[in-house]
Amino acid sequence: MARRKKVYEGKAKILYEGPEPGTLIQYFKDDAATQPTQKAGPADGRGVLNNRLSEFFMSGLNLIGVPTHFIRRLNMREQLIRMVEIIPVTVTVRNFAAGDLSARLGIPEGTPLPRPIVEFYFKDDKLGNPLVTEEHVIAFGWASQQDLDDMVALALRVNDFLSGAMLGAGIRLADFQIEVGRTWEGDYMRLIVADEISPDSCRLWDLRAAETPDREGQTREPGPLDDVYTELARRLGVMPSNVTHATKPTLIN
Ligand code: ADP
Ligand code: MG
Repeated sequence: MARRKKVYEGKAKILYEGPEPGTLIQYFKDDAATQPTQKAGPADGRGVLNNRLSEFFMSGLNLIGVPTHFIRRLNMREQLIRMVEIIPVTVTVRNFAAGDLSARLGIPEGTPLPRPIVEFYFKDDKLGNPLVTEEHVIAFGWASQQDLDDMVALALRVNDFLSGAMLGAGIRLADFQIEVGRTWEGDYMRLIVADEISPDSCRLWDLRAAETPDREGQTREPGPLDDVYTELARRLGVMPSNVTHATKPTLIN
C-alpha cells in the first residue's frame, strides 16, 4: 500500500492528495491558535472540533447554494475537499469594530458598524498579511475586478448565514475571514469558499454571558467566548462524544 502524498503543511492543517483527481484531504492539527482573535484554547481536540465546525458551516452553506470546497468528512480529523487555486487575498467581513480596524481608525472595540465592511488582506505571513485595496489586487494580478465582485458577494452571503447561525447560539459574529479559490467546470471558472470556517477564522463574542448581570447587577459588554472551540461546538450541537484524545492520521484507500 502506497503512502499518500503530503501536498502542503501549514500552521493549522495538512493537505494530502485526495482519492480522485481534483480532490484533497484536509487534516486538522491541534497546534496553538493561529489567529490573534482567539484566546488559546485547550490544545487537545482543537483540530477535531475545527474539523466538525468547518463541516457544519460549509455543508450548511452548500445547502443554501453558497458554493464551498467541502465534499464530506472522512473521520475525526479529516475531510475530503475540492482542490482549488487559492486566491492570495483573504476576504474579511466586519460587523462590529475590533482588532485592526479599531486600532487603525480609533473606533472603540464593540462599536456596531453602519453596514458590514468587506476588506482584503494579502495572504503573506512574512509581511503580516497586510490590508490591501482593490487597486492593489487588480494591479498585481491577484484577481480581476469580476473576481473581486464575486468575492464580496460570496463573503456577504457567508456573513448572513454565519451571523444567523451564531446568533441562534447566543453568539455575536464581530468579524470573520474566508479564503476563496478558483475551480473549473468545463470551460467555466467559478469562485468557491475554501480553507476553513472555525473559531480560528471568526471573532466571536458571548451574548449570553453579557446578559447575565454581574455582582453589582450590571450587564456587561459581550466579550470573547471562554473555551471557544468546545463552547461553540456544544452550543451548535456538533460536539462529538469524545474529543479529548488526539487521533493519529488515518490512511484511507
Ligand atoms: P497556513 O499556515 O498557510 O494558513 P493552513 O494550516 O491553514 O495553512 O493550511 C491550509 C492551506 O491550504 C492554506 O494555505 C490554504 O490556502 C490552503 N487551502 C485551503 N483550502 C484549499 C483547497 N480547497 N484547495 C487548495 N488549497 C487549499
Ligand atoms: Mg490558515
